[in-house]
Amino acid sequence: MDWFRVSPVVEGVYRFAEPLGLADRSWEVSWVNSYLMVGCERAALIDTGLGFVPIRPLVESITHLPVIVLNTHSHWDHRGGDSEFEQVAIHGAEAQSLLDRPDLDALRRTLSRPGARPFLPKGFDPAAYEVKPKKATLLLGGGETVDLGGRRLRCLPVPGHSPGGLCFFEEETGLLFTGDNAYAGTMWLQTPDAEPARLATGLRRLLAMDPSPRLLLPGHEEAPVGAGLLTDIEAGLNAALDGRGRSRRTRLGRRFDFGRFSILLA
Ligand SMILES: [Zn+2]
Repeated sequence: MDWFRVSPVVEGVYRFAEPLGLADRSWEVSWVNSYLMVGCERAALIDTGLGFVPIRPLVESITHLPVIVLNTHSHWDHRGGDSEFEQVAIHGAEAQSLLDRPDLDALRRTLSRPGARPFLPKGFDPAAYEVKPKKATLLLGGGETVDLGGRRLRCLPVPGHSPGGLCFFEEETGLLFTGDNAYAGTMWLQTPDAEPARLATGLRRLLAMDPSPRLLLPGHEEAPVGAGLLTDIEAGLNAALDGRGRSRRTRLGRRFDFGRFSILLA
């Protein structure tokens, strides 16, 4: 079985899903999603995944148009393939972290367990795995429109999961690429660079948009997801921040469960 599970979302948009959770449950993440949107003149790759195997050959099996990478944020699980591409965009607040070599020792250890091996790509060596630094060629601040020829993506700043979080929105179709700002799984807001209250504000702004998002394409787990998830996460996050709702201490943080998603706070 190929490592990337490829599925069409709508005409010209593809989901590339990586089954991290089969090999390693410790991150409470089952799938890592990247997306390809093909326009008439160029294509956008929204995030580049784990980098366990090269993603560029997969992109080139679908299109030979020039590709611009649009990073939703700089966390290692979404930028593993950035260095394979010439054109890479990210929010200015995270340009520096795109140059970092993240500390992946814990991941290398869990991926090296014998039980993980059958679920990893053939020939993949966890001990040699690294996420390569990449210098961004385009810094975004939010508000820009990326024109692919016949399709346009608007960049929306949604800080909170990370300082320079971005969502990408195609107004004509209502597709919203949410990155890690909204997904139907365990949402990480317990890390030192997270600001959960800012995320709540950003989600409120997304919900107030006109036209409103119709379909979410998140950075993790099930995709696409109906836009109702945004409403639910905004409500859940506010409940968690207000101290309403029950939480329990877990290894990763204070965990609030809301059915199809959970929120981790510090
Ligand atoms: Zn992530």
